[in-house]
Amino acid sequence: MDVEICENCGMKIGKLEMPHVCNNHVVCQECYKRLKKSISPHGGTGLSILAKDMAIIGIFIPFVWLVALIIGHIALAKNANDKRAKDAICIAWASFIFNLIFIACFILGIMP
Ligand SMILES: [Zn+2]
Repeated sequence: MDVEICENCGMKIGKLEMPHVCNNHVVCQECYKRLKKSISPHGGTGLSILAKDMAIIGIFIPFVWLVALIIGHIALAKNANDKRAKDAICIAWASFIFNLIFIACFILGIMP
């Protein structure tokens, strides 16, 4: 068997070490442990799941979308490929627009 090289850190994986596969990449034990921590089974971090939930709640509750936006950006900074964080940011902006329309209607007295 050839010596495998970790696709994450470039270290050689020893003959007696068991290579791990993470997102179709061969990685060493140390990288596998680190990568596993940052990637949940759904491909998002706990932070991005929270951001998405808050972004949806933000449609109904003012300024929750702002918190969702911040959390979404933190999640995205930690993992640029986090699709869930990107979704959360999109929903947060949509919530912001909903809030604006709602507040504008309220101020203008359009609301019944
Ligand atoms: Zn490695």
